[in-house]
Amino acid sequence: MFELLAYDRESKARRARLTTAHGIIDTPAFMPVGTQGSVKGVSPRELRELDAQIILGNTYHLFVRPGLDVIKHFGGLHNFMNWDGPILTDSGGYQIFSLAKLRKITEDGVEFQNHIDGARAFISPEIAMEIQAALGGDIVMALDECVPYPCEYDYAAQSAEMTTRWAKRCKAVASAVFSGESSTRSSRAPDALGTAHTTARQLLFGIVQGSTFEDLRKQSAQAIAELDFDGYAIGGVSVGEPEEEMMRAVEAAEPFSPGDKPRYAMGLGTPPQLLEMIARGMDMFDCVLPTRLARNGTAFTDTGTLNLKNAEFALDKRPIEENCTCDACREFSRGYIRHLIKAEEILGLRLITLHNLHFYLNLMNRARIEIERGTFDQFRKAFVADYKTREAMRVE
Ligand SMILES: [Zn+2]
Repeated sequence: MFELLAYDRESKARRARLTTAHGIIDTPAFMPVGTQGSVKGVSPRELRELDAQIILGNTYHLFVRPGLDVIKHFGGLHNFMNWDGPILTDSGGYQIFSLAKLRKITEDGVEFQNHIDGARAFISPEIAMEIQAALGGDIVMALDECVPYPCEYDYAAQSAEMTTRWAKRCKAVASAVFSGESSTRSSRAPDALGTAHTTARQLLFGIVQGSTFEDLRKQSAQAIAELDFDGYAIGGVSVGEPEEEMMRAVEAAEPFSPGDKPRYAMGLGTPPQLLEMIARGMDMFDCVLPTRLARNGTAFTDTGTLNLKNAEFALDKRPIEENCTCDACREFSRGYIRHLIKAEEILGLRLITLHNLHFYLNLMNRARIEIERGTFDQFRKAFVADYKTREAMRVE
């Protein structure tokens, strides 16, 4: 399922291949975020053209709207949105903790009122698994509690322990549904929920928590690893903590997250942060930055971000980034895209989104090539230094 192909000698970076029911994912991999069953502004055909190998679907959003009955009616999320590649669904936990109102967390699960119409709902580890089975993603996530930053040590400790107990309950559901050894994984039987939309087994990832406390991160990683998941995610990072604390949290968890399974750093990050995470042994990433920043006119480049709303680009005939092979850069100038953004034309937002997604996906492709060549660490150091220096100069 997870085949390690190359290691970097100077760092913990690795190049691997993850096989899922809907196809192969080359890692390190970036997963565009399809929040509400759509990567904002981009069609599945365009995602394929961008060489996206996997996308992320947000369980909470899809559960609230359109709701599971609609998605089941259409035969699962792949059919509903017409994406036939791999999908990872999150557990819904992160959005419950960041968006929903009136949350009540108990050992059983979380009771909340959704942010759309205030309707009450309850999600337990078992229900999170049931919802994700109905969505039919190729990779599903255990329900966890993502604590905010900053967080008291005692709360972070209790929360991480509860997350482990929840992970155990998720694993129990998965084991009951997907019983059988790896040789029979492709012949998954329809489950009692009548939601077997995939022909192969869903992979289940556990999530490490522990806030910014290194000992808690270590304990959480050990406890989650003992439950034997198909992959290991590091959650509760990039929630407002300083970058050094984020790096330390990942460094504390990594040695205890089994090296023969994929590791997923959740909700990250800037281009330099992704390369730093790869150097720390992480394989998979998801982040809303490329799509979210596109909406305010910000484009990613090798030398930092450009805000195309700025007046300096009004007469600029160059593409967003020289030598970029994306459709936006091959066909349009900075000056034209700036005009579209200023005039609030949808095309402007779409062009920057396409460029930004291409940038992130291509950065992972470059990282994979550099790991294979044995030159990843030089590449990372040069990229990070150049990106940060040039961006700082631009801000001044
Ligand atoms: Zn481009």
